[in-house]
Amino acid sequence: MKPKIQSADPKAAYLAAEAEIDAAIKRVLMSGHYILGPEGEHFEKELAAYLGVAGAAGVASGTDAIELALRAVGIGPGDKVITVANTVTATAAAITATGAKPVFIDVEPDTLLMDAAALEHLLTTVRDPKMKALVPVHLYGQAADMPRLMEIAARHNLVVVEDCAQAHGSLVGDRKAGAWGQLAAFSFYPTKTLGAFGDAGAVAGRDAQLLEQVKLLRQYGWRRRYVSDLPGRNSRLDELQAAILRVRLPRLDAENAARGVLAARYLERLRGSALRLPVVAAGRTHTWHQFVVRTPRRDELRAHLEQQGVFAGVLYPVPIHRQPAYHQAELTLPVTEQACAEVLSLPLHPGLTVADVDTVCAHLLAWAG
Ligand SMILES: *Cc1c(COP(=O)(O)O)cnc(C)c1O
Repeated sequence: MKPKIQSADPKAAYLAAEAEIDAAIKRVLMSGHYILGPEGEHFEKELAAYLGVAGAAGVASGTDAIELALRAVGIGPGDKVITVANTVTATAAAITATGAKPVFIDVEPDTLLMDAAALEHLLTTVRDPKMKALVPVHLYGQAADMPRLMEIAARHNLVVVEDCAQAHGSLVGDRKAGAWGQLAAFSFYPTKTLGAFGDAGAVAGRDAQLLEQVKLLRQYGWRRRYVSDLPGRNSRLDELQAAILRVRLPRLDAENAARGVLAARYLERLRGSALRLPVVAAGRTHTWHQFVVRTPRRDELRAHLEQQGVFAGVLYPVPIHRQPAYHQAELTLPVTEQACAEVLSLPLHPGLTVADVDTVCAHLLAWAG
């Protein structure tokens, strides 16, 4: 039987650091302290230092990180939050959980990231004071056009919470994704480029006061034990995941570089084929959480690859404004809708070799002619 080439492989990430992760798990189990302890505090400092921001607050998931960040900057019932529909439903779920309503705008045709011109158009044609926040989503490993989005947001008094769930370590100029907005949300779901082995997330940012607010919200609104100053939630980072993330964070840049080598190989081999290839915008780095090609015959290609033992993913097949829970019948987002019908994520993770990429490319080129 031919070996399978998977689209993600979190077990390979464990095996790459097996002894260190085993030791970290043992250290936590022996410590007698399992939730919101020293491992979490160290991880928050290490993550903040890596990102170049003032601090971070560990939470239970990426979805919670977006929700609690929005609540910390004051978003609540009746407000509107501008985001994109080319993302996982978690982004909209987090906005909805605050009591606010998501407002979707289209993405750029080349990067498939939030379109600054669409934002400017929305804010100048619809002057709705309820629109108070902006959630750009840094999808596939590339950050959105943050200098331009921040400038527009400042002019229109919008607070910015970055969704960094797919952009750990990505740069815009010399500044990391997550160091632009008032706050930024990270997911450490196992298949993310920095993954835990369970659910985990964090809010990071430059404003220590806002981060303090997140820390209240993540544990019942407690400033002092058993006294709730706010109607907070339970969304805590556990010590096991924090200790594992502390092993994985120092390896992130090397793993992102390994992804870059595989991505460069794909780009080289597939140039000139019938597939539309991913574009890296000037002044930004791509950390290749996903290597997304586009073809109108996406479903056919995906099935063909699967027959060859190659598993490609689709992020995302249905735009959020076309999903039952968030349906907005009157809204049309042409670039997003077309992208969702055409995108295919080729296998790319540090557990793959250049030879694996060559195998995938051979199948692709045989199919595409
Ligand atoms: C994974 C992801 C989330 C949600 O993170 P969870 O940890 O699964 O809650 C949010 N936004 C984007 C873009 C994601 O990829």
